[in-house]
Amino acid sequence: MSIQIDKKTCIGCGRCTEACPGNLIRLNEEKKAEIRILEDCWGCTSCMKVCPVSAISLFLGADIGGAGSAMRIEKDGDLYNWIVHRPSGEETVITVNRKNANQY
Ligand code: SF4
Ligand code: SF4
Repeated sequence: MSIQIDKKTCIGCGRCTEACPGNLIRLNEEKKAEIRILEDCWGCTSCMKVCPVSAISLFLGADIGGAGSAMRIEKDGDLYNWIVHRPSGEETVITVNRKNANQY
């Protein structure tokens, strides 16, 4: 698994650089986030959860979302909407209330 950062959407807040437990993300000269060592990302999704503009997507394996699929997160208060986007354009939304997350 690995992430992709949409540089057009990134506002350079730096939150993802602080959230990554592997220190894998940095801000470049244009104040846009970029991953330093893509193959070292283990897909923990910490960077995605702190991004205020949903600029980070996680590529999913073919056995999870289908080849070429990616997942992003959009937050709505305590609700996390995990959105799986497939190359066909189809999207699946999985909503989790983060206050209840430890119940599962
Ligand atoms: S998914 Fe986790 S390991 Fe990968 S870049 Fe984001 S915070 Fe770092
Ligand atoms: S958290 Fe999102 S907006 Fe902030 S620097 Fe990272 S990718 Fe850019």
